Amino acid sequence: MKSNAQNSKVIKVLFVSTEVAPFSKVGGLGDVVGALPKSLLKYGIDVRIVTPAWPGVMQRLRDAGHKISTFSQRVSVSYAWHSVEAIVHRVDLEGVPVYLLESDEYMGSMYPWDLNAATARPFAVFCMQVLELKKVVGWTSDIFHCHDWTSAFLPCALAWHRRYHDPNAKSVLTLHNVAHQGMFPPAAFLDESGLDPSCFNMWALEYYGQVNLLKGAIISASAVTTVSPRYAWEVQTFESTQALSKVINANKDKLTGILNGIDTDYWNPETDPLIPECYSSDSLFGKAECRRELLKNTGFDPAYKGPLVVCVSRLVEQKGFDIILPALKQLDSLDAKFIFLGSGQRWIEEALRGAASAHVDSVCFFPGYNEPLSHLLYAGGDIYLMPSLFEPCGLSQMIAMRYGTVPVAREVGGLMDTVIDADCDGGGNGFTFITYDTQGMLWSLRRAIERFSNVKAWGKIRQRGMLEDFSWSHPAALYRDLYKSIL
Ligand code: ADP
Repeated sequence: MKSNAQNSKVIKVLFVSTEVAPFSKVGGLGDVVGALPKSLLKYGIDVRIVTPAWPGVMQRLRDAGHKISTFSQRVSVSYAWHSVEAIVHRVDLEGVPVYLLESDEYMGSMYPWDLNAATARPFAVFCMQVLELKKVVGWTSDIFHCHDWTSAFLPCALAWHRRYHDPNAKSVLTLHNVAHQGMFPPAAFLDESGLDPSCFNMWALEYYGQVNLLKGAIISASAVTTVSPRYAWEVQTFESTQALSKVINANKDKLTGILNGIDTDYWNPETDPLIPECYSSDSLFGKAECRRELLKNTGFDPAYKGPLVVCVSRLVEQKGFDIILPALKQLDSLDAKFIFLGSGQRWIEEALRGAASAHVDSVCFFPGYNEPLSHLLYAGGDIYLMPSLFEPCGLSQMIAMRYGTVPVAREVGGLMDTVIDADCDGGGNGFTFITYDTQGMLWSLRRAIERFSNVKAWGKIRQRGMLEDFSWSHPAALYRDLYKSIL
């Protein structure tokens, strides 16, 4: 017999996420949650988003002139036997209602460096507030779509919370990055959050003596997705996720890999207001102007004609900096200039700063997070460097291709699903390598640099990348089918 939700015409999905671009974004998760719902609307899904109002978010919304409605009633939950309230605001993101929860809980930095029972608390409170939200907004979802460990408490609560246990509720968990699992010593977490302590066992939330929220959610969610098909396979193998792969493997019947898209309206070189001159795959004059402007910003020789290798990234080991940095010591053998934009781990920032001051003519480093500048790098660059150690999906390589900047990428995760080596039969859209070391990366980078000097061949590779369909249209249809399958 069909459930009510299945009979009703419209499927109602609530995205539960700690990042939503453009309100709050640390990496690709924010991009995905900011863009996928807009495409789901086109498939008739009644989709909404709920997210914490991190410090500065409400002010930025006001400054940007967003119309904000605030509900008169607050959402209230109990944590450690005290009531915790949040003000509920609603804004519109191109047709998608977004609920922002403003609470003292979310006054600290977004993600704690040191995760423990105390610093995990805002994420548990957030999920409980989401479960109470319907009382305030008068709208109930058929499916909670959660993202990564930061909203993984919600499926766990539906399975094992004293108050929120609901065996009929449906949830989808998307794994954007299994490297972060929400793992910490239990201390008083179970008691204070209201989870039934009996769920602290190896078949549920416990993982080598610690709470592991992601593990709990993988077990308890109705369906689990990864952000690329290749990553769905990798997360079941030992080397990519340690022993959590066994948990994922045991739940593989409900696992699907759906490749992320990018917001092709926002990332569009034909209309992008953040680049000095727009262009298309048919007419690339604007790209040359973007390159000139980028060169001006770097202080490199403005007459330089060789390839500009660009990289916009979180500065973390995952992104391959331990193999990039040694390459910057072999610059004499590379006819290319490098431009990096990023923020993250201090040792990588210092190493990039050092490389830039040692090679002022060929390495430039812009420290920090800078959205407008990232557009200039994507548009003004020739080669996009992305030699990741692991990469669940990766959006930057797709953005780069859309802007005619040819990726050099490692064959891993979503990079493998999106970048095809130009030396393969039938032609590709980039240059790839398999072995994670500097020599492997340089092998591909050198092939790209050499090909760049062949204007016709380079034009074909660039054109193939620009014409790829990286929109959300197809992935959104796959999510719609997944939602239907669990109702
Ligand atoms: P991840 O989510 O692992 O950081 P992705 O490639 O999936 O990597 O997404 C990264 C997103 O964050 C892209 O939109 C990229 O342009 C953006 N980004 C990363 N670092 C910066 C930065 N320093 N300034 C501006 N945008 C950045």
